[in-house]
Amino acid sequence: KQYEEQSKKIQDLMKNIKHKIAVMSGKGGVGKSTVSANIAIGLSKMGYKVGLLDVDIHGPSIAGILGIRDAVIEFNEDRMVPYPYSENLKVLSMQCLLNQPDDPIIWRGPAKIGVVRQFLSDTEWGELDYLIIDTPPGTGDEPLTVAQTVDECKALLVTTPQEISLADVRKSINFCRRVKLPILGLVENMSGFVCPTCHTLHNIFQSEGGKKTAADFDIEFLGSLPIDPNVVVSGDSGQSLAEDSPVNAGLNEVLKNIINQ
Ligand code: ADP
Repeated sequence: KQYEEQSKKIQDLMKNIKHKIAVMSGKGGVGKSTVSANIAIGLSKMGYKVGLLDVDIHGPSIAGILGIRDAVIEFNEDRMVPYPYSENLKVLSMQCLLNQPDDPIIWRGPAKIGVVRQFLSDTEWGELDYLIIDTPPGTGDEPLTVAQTVDECKALLVTTPQEISLADVRKSINFCRRVKLPILGLVENMSGFVCPTCHTLHNIFQSEGGKKTAADFDIEFLGSLPIDPNVVVSGDSGQSLAEDSPVNAGLNEVLKNIINQ
C-alpha cells in the first residue's frame, strides 16, 4: 500500500513537469554526466525552467561538474528542496546529501530502488519545463526504476564513436524497447578533436558511428560533440564551459533537436 501511495505521489509530482528526460549510456566515462549538465544549463539559458536530478548513486558527478559539491540541500517538512543553481535551474544530487564527498555508497538493489523512488517522490521541483535525470551507465536498477516509475519519460542515449561503446549503446536501445521507454535520440560525444591551432577536425576514434547506429535502429540522431580539453578543466573545477568551446556548436544543435520534439 505504501508503495502504491508513493507511486501516486510520483505521478502527481511529475504532472507538473512537461518533459522528463533520462540520460543513459551503455558505458561509463563516455561523458553522460557532462552532457546531462550541459543540456540542463543550455535549456535553462534558453529560458526554460529546468531540474537536474542525479540518480547515479555510486558515482554522482553532477555536483562536481557544476561546482556545488558543498551545497546543502534544505528540507521543507519531509520534502527535499533542490539547490537553486540559477534562476531557471534547480539541482538535486546524491552528492549533496553525503557528509563526506569521497564516501562510497554500498547498497544492494532494493535499497537503490528505494532511494531513486524517494528522490522522485520527495523532491519539491514545482513546475518545470524539463527534468533531466542523469542515470548511471548500463541497464541496472536505477534506469529501470526511472523507466518504470516516471510516466512519459524519454531516454536520451550518449555514446562515443568507438565500436566498444556503440556495442553497449545497442544494449541500451534494446533495454529501452524492452521496458517500453521511448527514445528521444542519441548523442555522440568525443566525436573528433578540433585542433586549436589549425581548426580542422581530426577523428581520433572513429567517425559517424553514432549516426549510423541511430539510423540502423531508426532513432533520432540529436548531434555530436567534439573532444575539447576545456571540458575536462571546466568539469573538474565546476566552472561552466567557455563560450568559445567547439563543443557549443554541437550542443546547440542537440538543444534545438530536443526542443523540437
Ligand atoms: P560519464 O558520466 O559517462 O561517466 P563524464 O561526464 O563523467 O562521463 O565524463 C568523463 C570524463 O570525460 C570527464 O573527465 C569529462 O570532463 C570528460 N569529457 C566528457 N565529454 C568530453 C568532451 N566532449 N571533451 C573532452 N572531455 C570530455
